[in-house]
Amino acid sequence: MKKDGTEGNEVNAAKLRRLEVLKRELTCFPPQTYHRRMSAQYLIRLDDIAPHMDWPRFERLARVFEEFGIQPLLGVIPDNHDSQLQQFPEFAGDFWEQLRSLQARGWEIAQHGFQHVYVTRDCGLMGINGLSEFAGLPFEEQFNKLACGQRILREHDLSFETFMAPSHSFDRLTLRALRELGFTTVTDGYSPWPSVEHGLIFLPQWLANPRVLPLGVQTFCLHVNVMTEGQIRRVEQFVADHHREFLTFAEARALATSRTLNRVVGKVIGSTLRGLKTVRHSLRRRRNSA
Ligand SMILES: [Zn+2]
Repeated sequence: MKKDGTEGNEVNAAKLRRLEVLKRELTCFPPQTYHRRMSAQYLIRLDDIAPHMDWPRFERLARVFEEFGIQPLLGVIPDNHDSQLQQFPEFAGDFWEQLRSLQARGWEIAQHGFQHVYVTRDCGLMGINGLSEFAGLPFEEQFNKLACGQRILREHDLSFETFMAPSHSFDRLTLRALRELGFTTVTDGYSPWPSVEHGLIFLPQWLANPRVLPLGVQTFCLHVNVMTEGQIRRVEQFVADHHREFLTFAEARALATSRTLNRVVGKVIGSTLRGLKTVRHSLRRRRNSA
């Protein structure tokens, strides 16, 4: 502690500086791009893309995306060892050629983990599911898994810079490994707009079913293999009604900012959603035990 009593003044000055930054951000929030357009914009990601999957459902969704010019993000599992997914019939043709052809049409590729096998019960930074292929493991192990997956996708001539964590679970070490491997983007995050954190771009993703939002950018996360007929119809209707409000992933990346307020609002959204989930779980447990 400083003997001349200046420490308190320095702390107050630092607090004032932080308040000034927040005040400046409040006056230009949401980001400039949205001043003219106060409605949300959307992205779609498809999880669990692997040779064994529900191809008829995938093709049905692909038709509506093609019809309305939507270019989704495909979360490709480099070396699928997920026994549940392996129960689906295998793609009748060259799986990797199919991905290259979708990529040539503007669809974007993400690396969805390595083998899609959960080895820890760590919910990671997102705090969603207590299952992970990465979170909780030592750095070297995470790095090697990610590097192996990256090599497989590259050997099949796919270009990608986005990581999609299985079960939305990753920790700070995963993010460090991703940076070192040259990834730029993570498709996860609670902030209303794309944000730059930990040296990576986070594209907001916290909804599974498409719905209209008043502002921000939101990625709808679709698990093609387990979607019901009703959920597929809802996506088809939403895309038909709102296709002009969709962004490409490159456009979404270009909107990323490191604004404190965007991150602070994201933290509030994250803790609210996690709180609601806990309440829902305990109500369900109580109902089941009654
Ligand atoms: Zn998955």
